[in-house]
Amino acid sequence: MAEMRIVLLGAPGSGKGTQAERLAGRLGVPAISTGEMLRAAVAGDTPLGQRVEQIMAVGDLVDDTTMTAVVEERLGKSDARRGFILDGYPRTIAQVQTLDELLAAAGQSLDAVVRIEVSETELVRRALARRRADDGEEVLKARLAVYREKTEPLIAHYGDRGLLREVDGSRSMEEVTDEILGVLAVRV
Ligand code: ADP
Repeated sequence: MAEMRIVLLGAPGSGKGTQAERLAGRLGVPAISTGEMLRAAVAGDTPLGQRVEQIMAVGDLVDDTTMTAVVEERLGKSDARRGFILDGYPRTIAQVQTLDELLAAAGQSLDAVVRIEVSETELVRRALARRRADDGEEVLKARLAVYREKTEPLIAHYGDRGLLREVDGSRSMEEVTDEILGVLAVRV
């Protein structure tokens, strides 16, 4: 299968994680979720987990330097050599730059950035149906605010670079996956 390096962008609750897993299965590259990696570190009570637990609990972003280490290590693993679906990274403009540098150092670049668009009303409806330790109402509001402030600017940035593809995330899980494969012009 062709190499494929994809970033998924979307608000908390947009379905990035679900789609990352589904796409990974279809495209034969790993789904890399920084949120999952950090939650695993917290669950395992590792030094990284201890450092990020409180930050995640209030819905803030883990600092860029810590995230660079996490992502650099993960992208260096052999299964990511032929591609990946990144879910939850980059989340700041500084992280965009770091990712570009890490890829460039390996002679690689992104193929596309897929934005999964979901209305605020639908995000709130989903949040109420979903239960996770960091999904309390106040924390969710904080995460949405952080997304708007820090991550939304990435949409225009990747748009300017011609990498952005937008899909309607309010449809069924299957339809969203098919739409993403469609905008990636992938036949599987
Ligand atoms: P969601 O997809 O619901 O927005 P994630 O599972 O991706 O949430 O991330 C959960 C938490 O992990 C974030 O709120 C943040 O604290 C931390 N995190 C994950 N990825 C990053 C990142 N790239 N930079 C900073 N913090 C991150």
